[in-house]
Order: sequence, then C-alpha cells, then structure tokens
Amino acid sequence: MTNAPKAGIVVVGSLNADLTIYCDRLPQPGETVHGNGFAVNPGGKSANQAVAASKLGGQVSLIGAVGDDPNGTMLLDSTASAGVDVSRVLRTDVATGVAVISVDSTGENSIIISAGANGTLRPAAVTPDAFKDAAVVCLCLEVGIDTVIAAAQAGHDAGATVLLNLSPYAEVPERLARLSDVLLVNAHEASFFLGTESRVPDPEAIAEAWEPVRSQFADRGLQRVLVTLGAHGSVVLDSLARGTEDQITRIAPTRVSAVDTTGAGDAFTGAVAARLAAGDSLADAASFASVAAALAATKKGTQAAYPSTADVEQLRD
Ligand code: ATP
Repeated sequence: MTNAPKAGIVVVGSLNADLTIYCDRLPQPGETVHGNGFAVNPGGKSANQAVAASKLGGQVSLIGAVGDDPNGTMLLDSTASAGVDVSRVLRTDVATGVAVISVDSTGENSIIISAGANGTLRPAAVTPDAFKDAAVVCLCLEVGIDTVIAAAQAGHDAGATVLLNLSPYAEVPERLARLSDVLLVNAHEASFFLGTESRVPDPEAIAEAWEPVRSQFADRGLQRVLVTLGAHGSVVLDSLARGTEDQITRIAPTRVSAVDTTGAGDAFTGAVAARLAAGDSLADAASFASVAAALAATKKGTQAAYPSTADVEQLRD
C-alpha cells in the first residue's frame, strides 16, 4: 500500500491586531494629517498567510502566540473561522501583538509593529509532531529568529518544502538560508538580501534581465526564489534549473483597481503555500498567487479580503 502524499501546511509565526487609519496621503516625519476612517482587524503575517492558504483549500495549522486579551480572542476566532487549526496557538500573559497601519488613497501603506506575545514564541513551541503531515512549512520574520530556524529544521526533517518569506527584512543566518527551499521576497527585501550594490531590475524588465540576480541568489546557496513586484507582478528564479529554459519565469500582474494593498504579500505567500501543497510547480503556484493577491488588493483589510479558489478561478477564466 502506498501512502497518500502529505498535503498539510504548517505556518509558524505572528498574529497581530491591525489598527488601520485610512487617509488621503501618508504623513511625512513630524507631520500630522487627518484620517478618514479607522478599523481594527485581525492580521499578522503568519495569521494572514494561514487564512489565505486555508481559504484556498489548504489544510492549515498555525503555531504562534497571542495574549489573554480581547485582541487575542479576535485573532483566534478569525483564523479558526477561516478553517485554520489553532490548537497550537499559545495564550500568554503578554499583550497580543499590534500593527499600526496607515493606508493612503492609492492603497499605499506604512506599518509599525509591536511584537507583544509574538516575542514569547520560543523554539520549544515547535515540536516535531506538529510537522508530521506537513507538505509545506511557511515562515516569516515577525517572530524570533531562533524559533524560525527551529521551525525550518523541523519542516526540513519532516521532508516538507520550507517557504521563507523574508519579511520584515532581517539578516538571514546561513543555516536558515540552507534550510529554505523557497525564498519569497519583495523587491526591497531582494535588494537588501543581495547587498546595497545590487539592484533588482526595473519592474517591467524582461525575464533575461534577471539572470545576474538569479546567479547572485544561487551563489548565496538559495535554490528557488520568488520576487514580488507589487502591481508589476512577480518573477520566479529557479537556481537549480541552471541551463534549462524555465530558470527565470516572469509572472504578469493581474490588472485590478487596488483599494488597499495591505496584506497582498501575505495573500500571495499563503496562495503559493496552498498551491505547492497541492502539488503545483513553483511557477504555476506563483501564477495562481498573482491572481489571489490582486483580488486581495481590491478590498479593504487583509484576511476578510482574501479570496476563495472559486474567486481566483473566475478571474483567471
Ligand atoms: P505587502 O504590502 O502586503 O507587504 P509586499 O511588499 O510583501 O506586500 P508586493 O510585491 O507589494 O508584496 O505584492 C505581492 C503580490 O501581490 C505581487 O507580486 C502581485 O502579484 C500582487 N499585487 C500587489 N499589489 C498589486 C496591485 N496593485 N495590483 C495587482 N496585483 C498586486
């Protein structure tokens, strides 16, 4: 008897309450501007990615920490009601993490995060039994790097594909880079990772323009990299496929009228995780994720704006 392939997604990381003010334009340092709306919503990169993947059909389990407070309850309710298994989300006596977000009339945002309970998530929370059904492990840098490394190791040991979203940007220890099967970065994070002398190509550049960047990632030991370019789409850099035609794939953007791009990157990451767990190639997963993230940008907020598989397929037709 052959075993069915593993299909689970384990997301390890942050849950935050998003405190969002909408305004015409973002303030400059020292400036005060009038807002025109305020909302408190569930967020945090990992909670968002978990919800995005679950809404797109993934079997998702979330490992994280929230406070024993109303924001913590809101976050557990929102992730659980999206179908995410939250039995491994710890409740602590440290307040739930918070993100203070400003969104302007073009959908551009700026964000400050206070880690709160996320800072209490230790490597000990990452136990091997949590990974036994994992096909994909989804990580970001909103929790301590030791915990991220422990999760990457546990995912690697379980034979899962380790997907590291290098956000918010921080130096990546060599061990974490080696354990990451897929690195997912936006254009800023890609430039930071490669060093200030390296510039990612113009967003409209053809696939071949990415060859030097692909080589630089390959030289740093990365196997596969996905670079997101906001409204300009994304690029798949497949370092392992050296010499094949598919090593650089430009994913065209899905044209939408963006209202709020907050969490579009998380929708993209969650969608990639869901499609990789379902057996897609990285380029196919990115193509699907591009539509899912564009749809997420057409509505205010994050988790509530994330689409279902049916929504994505309708826009792809
Ligand atoms: P976030 O604002 O969530 O931090 P990010 O900087 O991590 O986002 P982006 O590169 O801005 O990530 O966006 C991720 C993906 O979302 C893009 O590759 C694209 O597929 C989609 N996307 C983002 N903004 C738009 C937009 N205005 N129109 C269409 N698609 C978009």
